Order: sequence, then C-alpha cells, then structure tokens
Amino acid sequence: MNSSEIQRLIQLLSRLPGLGPRSGRRAALYLLQKKESHMAPLIEAINNAFQTIQTCQSCFNLDSHKHCSICLDPKRDQHTICIVESVSDLWAMERSNTYRGLYFVLGGNLSAIQGIGPDQLNLGALVQKLQDQDFQEAIFALSATLDGQTTMHYVRERIAPYVKNISSLAHGVPVGGELDYLDDGTLTTAMTHRYKVA
Ligand SMILES: [Zn+2]
Repeated sequence: MNSSEIQRLIQLLSRLPGLGPRSGRRAALYLLQKKESHMAPLIEAINNAFQTIQTCQSCFNLDSHKHCSICLDPKRDQHTICIVESVSDLWAMERSNTYRGLYFVLGGNLSAIQGIGPDQLNLGALVQKLQDQDFQEAIFALSATLDGQTTMHYVRERIAPYVKNISSLAHGVPVGGELDYLDDGTLTTAMTHRYKVA
C-alpha cells in the first residue's frame, strides 16, 4: 500500500488528459525518484503558471498578460482574424507557421448533444471585436466535424455584417479531425486553399 500522499499524487496525475492510472503511477514514481532534478522545477513551473497565466481579454488566448503577445505584436496583420475553437487549435496554427494575423478563440463548438448553445461561446466578444477593429478578412479554422461546421455557419451569420470577406480552411482535413492532430503541412495546405464562405 502506498502512503496517502503518493496515492493523492497518482490520482491527480492520472486525471491529466492523455494519462490514466497506469501512466499516472509511472509519472508519480518518476517524479518521486527525481525530486531535485524534475519534481522541484515542475513545482516551480506550475506555481509560476498558476500565478501569471490568464485569458487574453481580446482574443481568449492564454498568456502572462491581460493582452496576449499575439494581440500586442505590431508586426502581425491587424486586419485578418482567424477564428478557432480552442487555445490548442490556436497553438496548432502557430506551430504550422502559415498565418500572421490575429486570432479569436470561440471557446467550443455548438453541440446539441453536449448541450452547448451560443451563450456558452465567446460570441458577444467576437462581434464586439469585429465592430471595434477594422478587419478585412475572417478565416474560420474550425474542425471538419458536424459540430464544427454547424458552428461555422451559425457564427458566420452573426459576423457577416461586420467583415467583408469570410473564408474557411480547406478541408483536406479528415472528417472528425481536430486541428491539433494535423501535421503542419496539412494545415499550411488548408490555409492556402481556404475557400469563401458565402
Ligand atoms: Zn490575445
């Protein structure tokens, strides 16, 4: 039997995305056997992230400032906005290095099954942002799932009065595929072949 401290550590690690009880046990043991070299820096990093990381008030990305480094970067194209479902999709777009405009994180997809309606998304903030700033193009980078496409058409209706050109990533994307799982080349192709959403 493990001590309650070890049990608690395993339990918390097991709940992390992608881990389960088995990986949780392995990670816990690894950290306990490498307290100085791995556990201490991890504690410090988690603590720092906990203290400093917040949601960007402008685009809903995560960063250590009220406005994220992408929103504050004057070298980025201030007239193009890419609408993504989640921060993980924003990260995927940034990794692919194909896009130099601004972003907006919707915070999910509409989903009848999961009971996610328009009020659960950051839609009001998106409309406000498009009213306040002068965007020439909005690019949807939502998943090719049914929910993703439903969301795109709903949001398009809402933002159409405020932005002239609305497009979507081409879907060389497998159905049900999420951006985070795409390799950079596929995302680059999807961006290059984006199509107009009428
Ligand atoms: Zn931002």
